[in-house]
Amino acid sequence: MSTPQAKNPGLRPLAEVDPEIAALIRKEEEYESRTLRLIASENYVSRAVLQATGSVLSNKYSEGYPHKRYYEGQVNIDAVEELARTRIATLFGAEHVNVQPYSGSPANLAVYLAFVKPGETIMGLGLPAGGHLTHGWNVSITGKFFKSVPYGVRESDHRIDMDQVRSLALEHRPKLIWCGTTAYPRQIDFAAFRSIADEVGAILAADIAHIAGLVAGGAHPSPVGIADVVTSTTHKTLRGPRGAMILSKKEHASALDRAVFPGLQGGPHNNTTAAIAVAAREASDPSFKTYASQVVENAKALAEALAARGFRLITGGTDNHLLLVDMTPKNIGGKPYAQALERAGIVANYNSIPFDPRKPFDPSGIRLGTPSATSCGMGVAQMEQLAGWMDEVAQNPTDEARIARIAGEVAEVCKAFPPPGILL
Ligand SMILES: *Cc1c(COP(=O)(O)O)cnc(C)c1O
Repeated sequence: MSTPQAKNPGLRPLAEVDPEIAALIRKEEEYESRTLRLIASENYVSRAVLQATGSVLSNKYSEGYPHKRYYEGQVNIDAVEELARTRIATLFGAEHVNVQPYSGSPANLAVYLAFVKPGETIMGLGLPAGGHLTHGWNVSITGKFFKSVPYGVRESDHRIDMDQVRSLALEHRPKLIWCGTTAYPRQIDFAAFRSIADEVGAILAADIAHIAGLVAGGAHPSPVGIADVVTSTTHKTLRGPRGAMILSKKEHASALDRAVFPGLQGGPHNNTTAAIAVAAREASDPSFKTYASQVVENAKALAEALAARGFRLITGGTDNHLLLVDMTPKNIGGKPYAQALERAGIVANYNSIPFDPRKPFDPSGIRLGTPSATSCGMGVAQMEQLAGWMDEVAQNPTDEARIARIAGEVAEVCKAFPPPGILL
């Protein structure tokens, strides 16, 4: 009791030091355990990933790269970062890996800094067609500091219009072309982008933030070896901590490393680096292949079950982890529908659909993803049940008694599929 440790105030548990924050974290654990989470960019990490994230590695400053640091005392940190880089390189078959970007958006900024000068031309999928802000959309710094020429999807089938990509590229001769999406339910044809980039001498960057786990698990083709550079978050389908990585060919390694540090960032978040190493180890296990293919199988099952109930799916279905649903035939906007679903314990986000006649804050669609539910062990049977609830809510969005009944049923199912990483 009178050991120096017992007197160390820094050892007091969170619940004692800050009961308010401790209670909110506890509540969030309950919320994440009792709701059916369909946000396509979210997931559950394992206890192991959480432990690495919440470790003393967060105490360290390590500007630089392994064995080339600006601080002494890096013996363990160098080993951690080397493990993270090697494991990610092996998992994705990449020549060079940088695991230091703070998140997906900074990783993409590093690509600009490495390859493009302000005012030069870049191309990416427009936000309303399912692209990401950082691929040159006008409200993003990437649309303000560069000359951005967005490409889109075809009006007929809402698939990426490769003919348009080619003709815009030939006309505008971009320095950099992005492929990769944030709300697009189909596979990306990386080889087709490669040949267009080659034709105009552009750098091809593939942003696999959403699908990295599917790529690692063999459930989506990989751009590694095709694109010059591949960026990704680590916290979506890859099921790692909130962070990012840049994979590249050897020839671009030093430009990208210098862009991340000292170009954009200071010290790396070593606790995150360690958690990325843990996630890469988990994703190397054969069970992760099963997970990745089940994510896609569940998305397809949900798509079929929704279509059978009269929901209109953008592109008619999915071949990845997400679905975009046009709620127009159900006579409800995406936002009020997402809000009603949330009251029923089903958490999704409202989303614009291609050529949406409605405004971004009140769009026609919702976006659904299966990564989180699949992490809990849910399968096709639960997707069919989910489609039934979703239809009931769509038809009765203000019937609060019915919505409360569904919320109870959802909580029961969630109880039978406890999420990884949370001990209630
Ligand atoms: C999520 C996402 C990002 C950005 O990641 P943040 O970590 O939120 O900055 C970048 N690109 C794509 C395609 C994404 O889906």
